[in-house]
Amino acid sequence: MKDYSINTKCVQAGYTPGNGEPRQIPIYQSTTFKYDTSEDMGKLFDLEAEGYFYSRLQNPTNDLVASKIVQLEGGTAGMLTSSGQAANFFALFNICQAGSHIVSSSSIYGGTFNLISVTMKKMGIDVTFVDPDCTEEELNAAFQNNTRAVFGESIANPALTVLDIEKFAKAAHEHGVPLIVDNTFPTPVNLRPIEWGADIVTHSTTKYMDGHGAAIGGAIVDGGNFDWMAHAAKFPGLCTPDDSYHGVTYAERFGKEGAFITKCTAQLMRDLGCVQSPQSAYILNLGLESLHVRMPRHVENGQAMAEFLESHDKVEYVNYPTLPSNKYYELAKKYMPNGGCGVVSFELKGGRPAAEKFMKNLKLAAIETHVADARTCCLNPATSTHRQMNDEQLKAAGVPAGLIRISCGLEDKKDLIADVAQALDAI
Ligand SMILES: *Cc1c(COP(=O)(O)O)cnc(C)c1O
Repeated sequence: MKDYSINTKCVQAGYTPGNGEPRQIPIYQSTTFKYDTSEDMGKLFDLEAEGYFYSRLQNPTNDLVASKIVQLEGGTAGMLTSSGQAANFFALFNICQAGSHIVSSSSIYGGTFNLISVTMKKMGIDVTFVDPDCTEEELNAAFQNNTRAVFGESIANPALTVLDIEKFAKAAHEHGVPLIVDNTFPTPVNLRPIEWGADIVTHSTTKYMDGHGAAIGGAIVDGGNFDWMAHAAKFPGLCTPDDSYHGVTYAERFGKEGAFITKCTAQLMRDLGCVQSPQSAYILNLGLESLHVRMPRHVENGQAMAEFLESHDKVEYVNYPTLPSNKYYELAKKYMPNGGCGVVSFELKGGRPAAEKFMKNLKLAAIETHVADARTCCLNPATSTHRQMNDEQLKAAGVPAGLIRISCGLEDKKDLIADVAQALDAI
């Protein structure tokens, strides 16, 4: 599959049936797997043979779908998780522990902000949030001796800031730690962070990858480039023997290409069990088969909606990275020459009351805590996904109270714009 274009990989990567085998990926609906001898099974527990023994850790359906996502992102290993939240938690917790510190872009998904700033803080893991537009000097100043990872979103949900991946990768690598990029919004069809220096890529597959609002899921992909052993003192979990796995040293046994995901599966999946159901993985793969066809339409509709809103006199401003007036336009063109995603945000003149009136009058666009779905949906983040943030944090994340997020689906753009136009008229 390596030499085929990403369009072909969306359809066919991950699973190649043999003679007479099912054309579609089989759903291995089994908690456990059978072996002839205890020795056979013992080898699995020693990580000496590949195979399956219990679906809390690994399942063949999931691995086939993960393999497709790995190939789309250009990585070396990957895994599915039960949700995007689990993917980001696992990616960070795989290399952080009590006493560690994370440098994160402040412009990230509300759930991830909460995960890092509240829940992981309770685990003794500290964070410094940085403005994604900070200078290199400001970024470097955020690092501490105990920093173990840098985190950001390629296109942030919902602020739609574009991460300068090269800037963040350079700072991370100068401090001997990996850059983790949540690539949920552009998907690998529009942006592949590993090509720009990111080390680990995460996804909420719940969004465009599934694309139909059908299954919650997440994914982690390792680019296979970060040299853990060169920074062994920082990453004892990867570079010293794991007593809970018969003394295996992941970075030695599985190399740069496989250590991160093997450890993440063997330890975190074993202990925390955030596995994706094989049914969901099957549904996810149906979405992936058309991802390369759907993303250009989401982009076309998003661009048309953004241009319409920008010209409307009831709209204060529009956030959409590929509008020439947007401050991320140059970065967006560099990292995403074919466009980013179908999500547009804008602030109404008249703040919160205007937003309420607008939302009430939408007919086609549904009010949902969701984005990146085939059906257009709309949200006022300050009263929903970002409720836990105070006004100062909302501002830092680029989400003022009157902000509306509209996720343009796959409908006809003329109908979508007409719906938004009549809701604006009602204000
Ligand atoms: C939705 C989302 C998440 C969380 O994913 P879930 O699948 O809802 O757990 C993480 N990051 C981004 C960018 C998201 O949009």
